[in-house]
Amino acid sequence: MAAATPSAMTNRHTPAFGLASGLITEVHAFWLAGMSCDGCSIAAVGARQPSVEQLVSGSIPGLPPVVLHHPVLATDAGEAFIAPYRRARAGTLGAPYVVIYEGSVADERIAAFHGGYWSAMGADIDAAGGHKPIPTAQWLHDLAPGAAAVIAIGTCATWGGVPAAAGNVTGSMGVMDFLGKDYLSALGLPVINVPGCSPVGDNFTETVATVLMFLAGVGPLPAFDELGRPAWMFKKNVHQGCVRGGSYEEGLFAKAYGGTECLVELGCWGPVVQCNIVSRGAIGHAGGCMNTGGICIGCTMPGFPDAFAPFYKAPPGAMVSAYSSRTVGSFIRPLRRITQRRRNLTEHWSRERSVPSGWGHVAPPNVFERAANYFYRKLQHAGSEFRPNSPRQQQLQADGHQFIGDAKRRIEKESAP
Ligand code: SF4
Repeated sequence: MAAATPSAMTNRHTPAFGLASGLITEVHAFWLAGMSCDGCSIAAVGARQPSVEQLVSGSIPGLPPVVLHHPVLATDAGEAFIAPYRRARAGTLGAPYVVIYEGSVADERIAAFHGGYWSAMGADIDAAGGHKPIPTAQWLHDLAPGAAAVIAIGTCATWGGVPAAAGNVTGSMGVMDFLGKDYLSALGLPVINVPGCSPVGDNFTETVATVLMFLAGVGPLPAFDELGRPAWMFKKNVHQGCVRGGSYEEGLFAKAYGGTECLVELGCWGPVVQCNIVSRGAIGHAGGCMNTGGICIGCTMPGFPDAFAPFYKAPPGAMVSAYSSRTVGSFIRPLRRITQRRRNLTEHWSRERSVPSGWGHVAPPNVFERAANYFYRKLQHAGSEFRPNSPRQQQLQADGHQFIGDAKRRIEKESAP
């Protein structure tokens, strides 16, 4: 997958907003919520690497502290909370800022036609002297051109998500759709997308941190893919990092939840979904869909949810891949178990055909297993200096016997009366 290369990405030391490197003392982050369940906010505050606390306290070396304006987390309320948004909109903030949008962007014209709004924050005074709520879509429209970066968090903000699913009475869309293909931030960046429903919090905070590094001139902007996703997070599919990948490969498929087998026949879409949740975990490297027994329903993908519905039904492609894995697995699995059983024996136990364990009976290898292991070891050591009975190994064994014999004779001599 080719990484996108907008103009700013080619220039590591692009001065930000006319400020020389090192002069940025703070960066404002304006959080906007559209058609959202607030799950992305929850995910973000659960992030650990880095945490929101590290970002706002400026405790990451080289990064300017983030002044976070978040409608749920703010301690200010009313006009005191909205005032910085107004200053940014008017171009009088006096510091660089990023815009973070959570939830999909609704078509406010539909709501306005009926005399209302879908999602709004703050109010302007209208011609009649009344308060006119400001849709968050309007804030996005007004703040995006002056922002160092616009970051869409979560699948609703990135691709439209659940509010934009079939039916879509609100006319919802992702930030990229709303701002258009030609949008570039003040730093020359298209919309940055961190999908997931909800996203991995660390994916979001790490993206913010890397953008801030670039903004502060202390690091290059990392690679984003052609959809604006951080490429290093979304290049691989879920399946490639799944803890159940070995079961898939050996053709072990779950028929019900609760086991450790692969979940593809229960409706897992992991083999085609770009996401890192199984390797990164949901919070603090813990949890995450297949790690905790759930299937992948494709929540990071632009086609979610319609392209993955109905949930909990095996994808058609699973029939082909599961059938071939089952066929190959039924042959490979017993051979692996034989090899594994031999490697659970020390050389001594294997020779004696007895394991002195008080925990349970370990059956010695049967004739077939011994024969299989004989040929396996031949192959294993083929071409190696240390293959069984090679001149080199015979010499080592002779040296060992000599060494032991000398020691025994000396012990006997010294302990003789
Ligand atoms: Fe792949 Fe899903 Fe099976 Fe994991 S559970 S191995 S992601 S198909």
